[in-house]
Amino acid sequence: MGIVDVKQLTKMYKNNRGIERVTFSIEEGEIFGFIGPNGAGKSTTIRTLLNFIYPTSGSATIFGKDIVKDAKEIRRHVGYLPSEVHYYDDMKVIDLLTYSASFYKVSDRRLKQLAERLDLDIYKKIEDLSFGNRKKVGIVQALLHEPKLLILDEPTGGLDPLMQHTFFELLLEERKKGVTIFFSSHILSEVQKLCDRVAIIKEGKLIQVETIEHLTKNH
Ligand code: ADP
Ligand code: ADP
Repeated sequence: MGIVDVKQLTKMYKNNRGIERVTFSIEEGEIFGFIGPNGAGKSTTIRTLLNFIYPTSGSATIFGKDIVKDAKEIRRHVGYLPSEVHYYDDMKVIDLLTYSASFYKVSDRRLKQLAERLDLDIYKKIEDLSFGNRKKVGIVQALLHEPKLLILDEPTGGLDPLMQHTFFELLLEERKKGVTIFFSSHILSEVQKLCDRVAIIKEGKLIQVETIEHLTKNH
């Protein structure tokens, strides 16, 4: 059994197909890429796994627990970075992060280490941050409570190449500690750099799951 097991997962919106019969499995300690163009169903898959939206049919487990019934328990051990992060602009970064940390009883030290690592000025107001810096706030939030599984929805948008490099290093360090990473993107080259295996989704359907070596050979 994998860390994430998805079976025939389907989500139909009122007027749109979200995803249809998506099946895949992510092993412990793996960096698993999820790639597809805009509108392919990446966010729908992720938001279903996190129980923000309900599946129409099919099922999935994370850590062997049911995504719908055990959502609360699952979330305690998952770090999630949404594709778009929305914050109260008026707040200072440090206050927002301290607030997030308080839910998990995370030490200030972990918070400051992560911010420093990403070169994030925690004393700025959110409204004064660029898109890339807001993304960093989201990355710190996702990593704060030392989750066993990271689910990152298009995490690199807005990061400059140097910061992307630092971010990838950070992810590789997390993986060394045994963290499993689920990483969605519409950019194949960045997935190739980082991931062990990749699933390709198109128009709501999973069309391929490959190791990176295989993918590179055939495309
Ligand atoms: P991706 O994350 O790969 O860009 P999405 O999962 O956001 O793709 O979207 C997959 C499909 O589901 C698209 O056709 C999109 O328009 C549709 N969709 C996503 N969210 C909603 C929603 N809340 N209501 C209706 N349709 C949606
Ligand atoms: P992303 O794929 O990066 O999440 P989207 O633009 O697809 O970005 O979605 C942004 C938000 O709008 C999400 O909450 C998504 O569920 C919702 N959404 C996307 N497409 C539709 C749609 N056709 N109708 C209603 N809501 C949608």
